[in-house]
Amino acid sequence: MEQLRYFRDTIFKVGEIQLFKNIEKNELIAIKQTLDHCPVVEAKSGEIVLDSQSSGACLYVVLSGVLAQTSVTSKRQLENSSTQYFAGECVGEISVLDEEASTATIAAVTDTQLLLINSSVMWQLIDESNGVARNLLQLLSFRIRATNAQLRNRQKVGEFYRQLSMVDGLTGLHNRSWLNSQLPGMIENAHATNADLSIIMLDLDHFKKFNDQHGHIMGDEALQACAKVISASLRPSDFAARYGGEEMIIILSNTNKESAYIVAERLCERIRSTIVFKDTNLTLPHITASLGLATLLEGQDGLAVIASADAALYRAKERGRDQVAL
Ligand code: GH3
Ligand code: MG
Ligand code: MG
Repeated sequence: MEQLRYFRDTIFKVGEIQLFKNIEKNELIAIKQTLDHCPVVEAKSGEIVLDSQSSGACLYVVLSGVLAQTSVTSKRQLENSSTQYFAGECVGEISVLDEEASTATIAAVTDTQLLLINSSVMWQLIDESNGVARNLLQLLSFRIRATNAQLRNRQKVGEFYRQLSMVDGLTGLHNRSWLNSQLPGMIENAHATNADLSIIMLDLDHFKKFNDQHGHIMGDEALQACAKVISASLRPSDFAARYGGEEMIIILSNTNKESAYIVAERLCERIRSTIVFKDTNLTLPHITASLGLATLLEGQDGLAVIASADAALYRAKERGRDQVAL
């Protein structure tokens, strides 16, 4: 940044600076005198004014032009930044007080003239004027609120993506990551409360052949149709996840073997009678699924109960598919 002149050589009025708003005339005159020897510099469009590398803590008052907070100093990013600073506003008020480097990067959007107030001048202004101290407090509390709002927003966005990463893109069911993160807790809870918990492993029958005959896209349709049947058949306390390829897992909390068997039978029947795809030119054959059922036993963990359900699924396949096995 290039120094142009001192503040006393500008026509900018002290009262137009945010930090010196609502201050009595006498105090303003004293402030003006203190500021007279502060330099006025120019930051060219795109130039970084303040970042973690900046040394010598200063408060920067925008006299003309625009500054913006940014992560990358591309022109487009700067212009679209949601945090911009216009004439009369200032940046760096935290760094000037604690003399630590700034955590944000601030750059000039357009050629910008800035008044530099260094740390010792800033403290002198605070000592001499209650008005300045009051305005600074107000500005700092505004900054804290803005930062908190930004953090909350980021948390929300983070949570959104976390949720998104737990959902299977094709079927809309939970995915394997979700299962890995949630099942242990459910099992632990069932053991702790002595509650029943049943698991159904479901695998589409001869699905490779279905894909080979009707194409992968129709195969996807079949998977989606099956997932829809599962979702529609479950209670709010039940969960379904896509375990892998054409294999799905259903977790039934507070459900004993007998009730789970009824649920599994019902699912098997509904999948068998579901229309996968139909239009004027094409009607696809129905699909079927085999289901293996296991109920949590004392001392079993998630892997063990899944292994039991898997073994049951294998039996259902062996016995001719399109059926439930225990
Ligand atoms: P089985 O009755 O013994 O289960 O036979 P299968 O053909 O269903 O079993 P196999 O494991 O041999 O084949 C599974 C098929 O599932 C092969 C694979 O192409 C298909 N598949 C897995 N994931 C997807 C998917 O996301 N979309 C489609 N269209 N097909 C998939
Ligand atoms: Mg299969
Ligand atoms: Mg399979």
